Amino acid sequence: MAEYPNSFQKLLDSFRRLPQVGNKAAIRFVYAVLSMSDEEVRVFAENLVKIKQSLRKCKQCNNLCEEELCNICKNPARDYGTICVVTSSKDVVAMENVGQYQGVYHVLDGEISPSKGVLPDDLHIANLLLKIDDRVKEVIIATNSTVDGEITAMYISKLLNGKPIIVSRLAHGIPIGGQLDYADERTLIKALEGRTRY
Ligand SMILES: [Zn+2]
Repeated sequence: MAEYPNSFQKLLDSFRRLPQVGNKAAIRFVYAVLSMSDEEVRVFAENLVKIKQSLRKCKQCNNLCEEELCNICKNPARDYGTICVVTSSKDVVAMENVGQYQGVYHVLDGEISPSKGVLPDDLHIANLLLKIDDRVKEVIIATNSTVDGEITAMYISKLLNGKPIIVSRLAHGIPIGGQLDYADERTLIKALEGRTRY
């Protein structure tokens, strides 16, 4: 069997680590890199290293950012009384693109999953509870409409039960089994407007 040169194979293996990238796509990517200028390749490689060095989690909401607090938590115009609980930073971007939500976020960094062995303690749930103070009026649970997303939503709503706040679920409009970051903007607006009280 013909083999690729060592450095070709190494880059191919790196690309194959990306989600949904099979052998054929990885080979295409390697050829794409080979067609770049030296300068383009240098910038590409530098960006990979830089993102790991400069990105961190917002101290307040766990969203990805480059400083202690993300731009949303730093913005005094945001409504700190409304917290939207999402699975990942991707969902923050999806919600922000809609431009209708004025509150702040709390990123869980995953969902409770009995099948994958993800427990509540593996997620940022405990520090969500710590954030519930007198200022907070509503927590909108916007986890995915998947089995794991529903389990997570149920778990959090039970924890918040008894607190003097509204707990609502972003469900209406998001297809069952659907992921928030794949929903289009109109669907998300409807989901936000039509949120139901737990
Ligand atoms: Zn933040």
